[in-house]
Amino acid sequence: MSLQDLSRIRTLRDLDVAGRRVFVRVDFNVPLQDGQVADDTRIRATLPTLAYLAERGARIVVASHLGRPKGKADPRYSLAPVVDHLRRLTSQPVAFIGDCVGPAVERASQALAPGGILVLENLRFYPGEEKDDPEFAAQLARLGEVYVNDAFGAAHRAHASVHAVVDFFPACGIGLLMEREVQVLSRLVQAPESPFVAVLGGAKISDKLPVVRNLLGRVQALLIGGAMSYTFLKAQGHDIGASLYEPDQVEAVADLMAQARQRGVALHLPVDHVLARRPDDPTETRTVRTGEAFGDWCGVDIGPETARRYAVEIATARTVFWNGPMGVYEVPAFAEGTRSIARAVAANPHFTVVGGGDSLAVLQQEGLLDRVTHASTGGGASLEFLAGLELPGLVALLRKAS
Ligand code: AMP
Repeated sequence: MSLQDLSRIRTLRDLDVAGRRVFVRVDFNVPLQDGQVADDTRIRATLPTLAYLAERGARIVVASHLGRPKGKADPRYSLAPVVDHLRRLTSQPVAFIGDCVGPAVERASQALAPGGILVLENLRFYPGEEKDDPEFAAQLARLGEVYVNDAFGAAHRAHASVHAVVDFFPACGIGLLMEREVQVLSRLVQAPESPFVAVLGGAKISDKLPVVRNLLGRVQALLIGGAMSYTFLKAQGHDIGASLYEPDQVEAVADLMAQARQRGVALHLPVDHVLARRPDDPTETRTVRTGEAFGDWCGVDIGPETARRYAVEIATARTVFWNGPMGVYEVPAFAEGTRSIARAVAANPHFTVVGGGDSLAVLQQEGLLDRVTHASTGGGASLEFLAGLELPGLVALLRKAS
């Protein structure tokens, strides 16, 4: 999947949608709390596509997954609360049906008026969705004449509504959200303005190794934080006490550091740390510098000096990509490092892209979500894209375009 190829995928503007039933795969996989939508970023992100289709008189069938119901109907994962929320965000009529395939759903899709929206029940209530089952895909395809994928957050999954379904629609393309995600992320790998600084955090380096490898040829600096930094510091022979790290990745990380040196990429690791007795216990903390003894304490956040240095690096960049927290940000006392990265990225006036639920949550808490160039709705998908991997949802559409 070359990046040039991606421009061959049809966009909404290339599709004839007037009066036709358009099956739109969205990513409404949002967090719920007490039966209410706790964060509606992903729902809001689909509104431009829905409005575009409505303005052109399309009859809109909307499909999504939510959580992991494991192939059976489970009311805890119903899309009903999402539909209630969507109704508050749009003036278009929104109907909901408690299934996603079958004759009743087909009739409901046929009955849609131009500009009307029909939201289907959770696709993962059927095992065929995650199995990429062509029969399930064929059933979905009976619900529309045109297929639009606007679910960037699900594009890295070879699931029926993202992948197999494409073969059953005569006309297919991507929605406005997917188009923007692909454009922005392509710019990061294709023509990033230098200096390009990538900030990576989170628990596991193993998840992010392919991205780091692919970014090494493109970035001038890599800033590492979070538990993943302890695998690096361990590889350098430092004491990390009881900090979370991945023993089986120490060698891979040592190799990565050698590659970074060879390529002249500045790989920054924390120079100081906030330590706690346990990752969930803020009652006792202390700050140490890298190289000092951790004892039986564990690192839970980057220290203030690291935060300051990382902010300086970010301020000098003309391209920034950030994914992953700098510490156990869920505990407010351990969130300061991540918050300072959020502030530094938001203050940079150039091209700034943030991905991953944790990083976006902190940006939002700080009221800075609209201060970055692009907040990617797909954490996993954006990492796979930046790692140079083929996203099944895009590959299927590309096949169709050729
Ligand atoms: P990931 O899914 O790999 O991006 O990791 C996100 C998780 O990493 C968050 O839930 C953080 O609490 C956790 N995390 C970040 N830094 C640390 C740390 N120093 N120790 C333990 N967990 C951490």
